[in-house]
Amino acid sequence: MQVETFSTLQEASGAVHDRAQFLAGGTILMRAVTYGDQSFDTIVRAQQVDRSIGSDAGGLRIGAGATMADVLASRDVDFLHPVARAIGGPQVRNMGTVGGNIFARNPYGDFAVALLALDAQAVMADGRTMPLGDLLATRERPGGLVQAVTIARPESGTFRFRKVSRVKPKGVSVMSIAAHLKRGDPRVVFGNMAPTPTRSVGAERALANGTDAGAIAAACSACLEGLAPADDPLATEWYRREVAPVHLKRLLEEGARY
Ligand SMILES: Cc1cc2nc3c(=O)[nH]c(=O)nc-3n(C[C@H](O)[C@H](O)[C@H](O)COP(=O)(O)OP(=O)(O)OC[C@H]3O[C@@H](n4cnc5c(N)ncnc54)[C@H](O)[C@@H]3O)c2cc1C
Repeated sequence: MQVETFSTLQEASGAVHDRAQFLAGGTILMRAVTYGDQSFDTIVRAQQVDRSIGSDAGGLRIGAGATMADVLASRDVDFLHPVARAIGGPQVRNMGTVGGNIFARNPYGDFAVALLALDAQAVMADGRTMPLGDLLATRERPGGLVQAVTIARPESGTFRFRKVSRVKPKGVSVMSIAAHLKRGDPRVVFGNMAPTPTRSVGAERALANGTDAGAIAAACSACLEGLAPADDPLATEWYRREVAPVHLKRLLEEGARY
């Protein structure tokens, strides 16, 4: 294993290819190294990473190098605290980053589920900006490093997150659900119900005119549209399909979390 260290994320971005992986917090990557993963032979590092969190002209900006602990320490993103708190234990939250979570495969990626529900934009190291959904759809192909994500602050009471796990408090997700209940244009995103975090188009359609009991019932009936859950050691496809509407109903009926 070779390690290449660069000063900036931009320089590191140019050195990433399909056998060279970028190292952020390393909670996934270093485990792969320890297990003898042969799919890559080079680790790329950057000395300066963006772990700032704050407001900018377009809304809120979260550096890809921000850890889950950084998120929990920032009042600017208090609505994301339940999401960051649901990820791993203290050691994982101290090291695991927002950027790494975007590229984390199932059963991980809970933070990316929330970001997709918030219509996040990814700011790439080369300055390009793209919707997070597009990045998630193409993330298996190396396309440069993520510098930061931007989101608009949701109106109070409109953002919800729920993680479903068998082991409490820090088991991995059987599924996670994030909803941003914007009137007219709601977002409902499931994690671990498809290869990447995925919008539930059926639920979003049903919730477009509000969240009364009828709309919630319709959203739960239609929530599997667009999803493709897998059988894995955490749960069968059948189980995931059975319980997804139950958990969505609980998420939609519960009071605001912030
Ligand atoms: C015990 C344990 C429990 C966990 N529990 C959870 C959990 O409950 N929920 C959850 O979602 N995750 C969980 N994880 C997974 C992981 O800790 C998090 O997903 C974390 O956010 C990954 O970030 P990282 O910085 O450690 O990624 P790394 O391991 O450094 O990198 C992961 C991948 O992302 C790529 N990458 C990292 N940063 C960037 C960037 N800026 N641009 C482009 N590519 C990048 C890397 O090249 C690599 O391929 C857990 C892990 C462990 C070990």
